[in-house]
Amino acid sequence: MKIQCPNPSCDQSLSGPKSAIGQRATCPHCRHSFIWTDRFYTGETFIIYDLETTGLCPDNDEFIQIAAVKFSSGCLCPTDSFFSFAKPRHRISSFIESYTGIGDRDVRDAPRPEQVLCRFATWSADATLIAHNAKRFDSKFLTATCQRHGLPSREVDAIDSIGISKMLFGKTRGTGHSLDHVKNRLRLQETTLRRHDARGDVDILGRAIEEMHRRLGLDNALNGVPRHSTRLPIV
Ligand SMILES: [Zn+2]
Repeated sequence: MKIQCPNPSCDQSLSGPKSAIGQRATCPHCRHSFIWTDRFYTGETFIIYDLETTGLCPDNDEFIQIAAVKFSSGCLCPTDSFFSFAKPRHRISSFIESYTGIGDRDVRDAPRPEQVLCRFATWSADATLIAHNAKRFDSKFLTATCQRHGLPSREVDAIDSIGISKMLFGKTRGTGHSLDHVKNRLRLQETTLRRHDARGDVDILGRAIEEMHRRLGLDNALNGVPRHSTRLPIV
């Protein structure tokens, strides 16, 4: 595959194998160091978010809580954050209540998930979304919420932070990439925020991404990190 050197003052065309995606490379012409990717992005604003849900199935379950924080130019913006409960159609099971700490009482006066998602879409604007295990879980819940309620929607770029963890810690079989694995490997400090509450998880994930971004020497657009797409309502 052929790409253009990402250094704006270099017009060299470079070629390399597809397997080099995600690996560090150096332009032989200008010595610019970058992470090889099939496409270069310029947007530097990301939304790191986490969902708690009534269960694992995006087609039957609904999200009951969302927390998010902005990550821009390689730094967390803790004051620019989003949080809401959402009221699902079904009762919250005792299993989910004990896992997340969220019960029917917490969501009684909350807006519906699709209403929360519209507010989230307004707030996140044209940012790229990042969640841990997004590809298998959170991104699917966003798309399913739009589809189930017939909301007009737009495609949104998304990153699964498990992909960032794999770039840093390797893909060797048996290397765990759960949020706890990542937190322990990075030796992140514990806080008093509750785990499996979206606010607690997004706090850890935000600090993990900031640290992995630094250790990998990623640019501010996170070029080289694999992307997929999800959907958000058009608001
Ligand atoms: Zn170059």
